Amino acid sequence: MKMTSTPPPYKPGAYDTGGQFGTQFNSNIPPPPPPPPGFVATAGPTVPGGHFVVTQQPLIKQKIPTSMVCPHCNTNIVTACKAKVGVGTYVVCGILAAVGCWLGCCLIPFCIDDCKDVVHDCPSCHRTLHVNKFLDG
Ligand SMILES: [Zn+2]
Repeated sequence: MKMTSTPPPYKPGAYDTGGQFGTQFNSNIPPPPPPPPGFVATAGPTVPGGHFVVTQQPLIKQKIPTSMVCPHCNTNIVTACKAKVGVGTYVVCGILAAVGCWLGCCLIPFCIDDCKDVVHDCPSCHRTLHVNKFLDG
């Protein structure tokens, strides 16, 4: 039968060629360079967004005169502290009024510097350098 002796359209040679091509393609791929794990590990934590926030915070964290360099006049000064009625003063006043001290006693915070905001002024250029909030401290 001629039908049986007819070679199939798919030649084994074509299959071998494909296999060789695949082998060559794989051999041509250079091995991926191993990434330095140390560099990658350090690259991640070195860019935290929190560092910028920390540097933006004022250096004055106390309610006492602080020695510093004025950013306005670049003079090495000791800040002049002044007590100023702030939001915290009214909060204490409201608390005292809520507990029954509303007959004048609620005005006590306005006479106590510890219940007020502390304003740090530059004695040289008289600019306000920092306000230490009563509620924050
Ligand atoms: Zn100044």
